[in-house]
Amino acid sequence: MKGYAMLKIGESGWIEKERPKCGPLDAICKPLALAICTSDVHTLWEGAIGERHNMILGHEGCAEVVEVGELVKDFKPGDRVLVPAITPDWNSLEAQAGFSMHSGGMLAGWKFSNFKDGVFSEFFHVNDADGNLAHLPSNINTVDACMLSDMVPTGFHGAELADVQYGDSVLVIGIGPVGLMSVAGANLRGASRIIAVGTRQVCVDAAKGYGATDFISYKNGAIDEQVLKMTDGKGVDKVIIAGGGVETFSPAVKCLKPGGKIGNVNYLGSGENIDIPRVEWGVGMGHKLINGGLMPGGRLRMEKLSSLVSAGKLDLSPLSTHVFEGWDHIEEALFLMRDKPADLIKPVIKIQD
Ligand code: NAD
Ligand code: ZN
Repeated sequence: MKGYAMLKIGESGWIEKERPKCGPLDAICKPLALAICTSDVHTLWEGAIGERHNMILGHEGCAEVVEVGELVKDFKPGDRVLVPAITPDWNSLEAQAGFSMHSGGMLAGWKFSNFKDGVFSEFFHVNDADGNLAHLPSNINTVDACMLSDMVPTGFHGAELADVQYGDSVLVIGIGPVGLMSVAGANLRGASRIIAVGTRQVCVDAAKGYGATDFISYKNGAIDEQVLKMTDGKGVDKVIIAGGGVETFSPAVKCLKPGGKIGNVNYLGSGENIDIPRVEWGVGMGHKLINGGLMPGGRLRMEKLSSLVSAGKLDLSPLSTHVFEGWDHIEEALFLMRDKPADLIKPVIKIQD
């Protein structure tokens, strides 16, 4: 079978591999549609998770099941499925402790295009099919379905990690597709004021639709100074970090109220340390919580998140700004994600209707 792979850091291309084998609990799937992620860019061009050779890229897509193991109960060949980016081992101790995304070690629930071949492939392997796959609702199209692999679960996890409550004022740093879903998640959880950091028109328009009330640009001065100015020096209740680098934590702490919480879902691809400003962190006693996490996967969560789309409470169509048809466009879409033209939010490739 063919797959589009990271050959080594900085180099990618098509390779030929053997079709993966299906274990008793597993499924083999073929893609219906695929999406490119900023994480693919971190992995391939920045080497953020280290060297990988001939590893098939991709962890976002929806698919048709072509084979299942003899112990799989709820899926069969021909089923159309949502595929989460994170596919934990549900019988692990980490999963039993409530942190399935770290099953088998830190971040080890992230298997596609990290520890094993990803989904940019004619066929791909899904471990623990009953625990990880979800049926694709008939009223969700395959392009929107790709946004449920990672953008929705990750962006919404930012709102969960920041513990957004009714009436909270929330700062969202970075409004790429993940940050946009953090805006939507914060809005659904009842945030009042949502201040978004970002200026690209396509993202600003989408963010307004998802519930952002105010906008600032990190290019117009320090984020914390701008936020403190617009909140009469009080700051915000919660901060969600979904863009930038290690430098975003300092302003986040500075404009957070005592008792506030930061939820980071950003993948910090470079830098040794994160600076926490001592004084604004209440000289160690400010009750300002800093949390960060990999998105939770799992069938239940995918079913719940997709039910928001099915019920018409979450419109994913603004995210897929560039839709291509056919395998030939994978490379173009990947390079587009690296270069981020001004009108891009997400590139998606339709493989089969
Ligand atoms: P993106 O690059 O499209 O969006 C990030 C945005 O942040 C961009 O619009 C950029 O202009 C903006 N930005 C850059 N520097 C900034 C700064 N200093 N302050 C504020 N904004 C700044 O990326 P994305 O696809 O939305 O993903 C966001 C991050 O989430 C990436 O690092 C990605 O790898 C990560 N991610 C994490 C998980 C997870 O499970 N935690 C899953 C998927 C993606
Ligand atoms: Zn992703």
